[in-house]
Amino acid sequence: YYDAKVVPIKLDQESERYIIVLHDTTKEKQLDKLRREFISNVSHELRTPLTSIHGYAEALLDDDLSNKDLVRRFLGIIESESARMTRLINDLLDLEKLESGEAKFNFTIVDMCQVIERVLSIVEPIADDYGVEVRWTCEGEKFVYGDFDRLVQLVLNLVDNAVKYTSLKESGEKSVTVRCFEKDDKVVFEVSDTGPGIPEEAQRRLFERFYRVDKARSRKVGGTGLGLSIVKTIAEKHNAKIEFESKLGQGTTFRVIFNKPQVKEEQDDAAV
Ligand code: ADP
Repeated sequence: YYDAKVVPIKLDQESERYIIVLHDTTKEKQLDKLRREFISNVSHELRTPLTSIHGYAEALLDDDLSNKDLVRRFLGIIESESARMTRLINDLLDLEKLESGEAKFNFTIVDMCQVIERVLSIVEPIADDYGVEVRWTCEGEKFVYGDFDRLVQLVLNLVDNAVKYTSLKESGEKSVTVRCFEKDDKVVFEVSDTGPGIPEEAQRRLFERFYRVDKARSRKVGGTGLGLSIVKTIAEKHNAKIEFESKLGQGTTFRVIFNKPQVKEEQDDAAV
């Protein structure tokens, strides 16, 4: 896209020339388009739970409230939809902080096995409820240079997705395997599941904000469509690479590959 401006130049009394000044506005137009898409996405994402809350509240107001089970069920929906809105707003604010660089990272040497243990203490009761078995291995200590809380958030998002999407499988094995191991000069964190898998055509869009393979499925597990965008941003801040493989009907594996922390000679000496 170009903005064109014609500038006349008078050479003498008789002759006039023109200069056409072209200003490349492609970037501005693209940014503007992204901004508009983002506002439209956010409004839509907020409107969906809001419509549901409004609808169920209205139904309760119109009812004589004598059917306790019905009242309880409608209130349950209102509660879970408002919780989803809160999660959505928190995720959005968090993503904004991460992407703008406003979020401060407290970088130290972190043992990924401790990160995994923390995440499993949060996820295991949820996995039990969902009927998904979680196995894990992380032997010894697997050190990376990072922010403990942000690494918990990254691992939690991946393991939580694995558990929730696997629970939606109609039949067959429902398990999630979490591993952390060293390979060459890297530390690899891996989550594998036996869930529904991700269709090939959806794979390249997975890390886009609000992208879901199946909106109804994501809603069912209370998703916000922002989990993987947050994972990607946190991985980038740690100079870590994300890989994934997925086969429809068979399962998905996500891998985050960290550099091993550089240990300085003096630190070695000091430790001896
Ligand atoms: P959501 O909040 O919808 O889970 P995410 O950004 O975390 O959003 O994930 C984006 C989409 O990727 C999900 O809606 C889901 O369709 C797909 N997805 C993520 N992890 C898995 C997984 N382990 N198995 C199957 N699909 C997954």
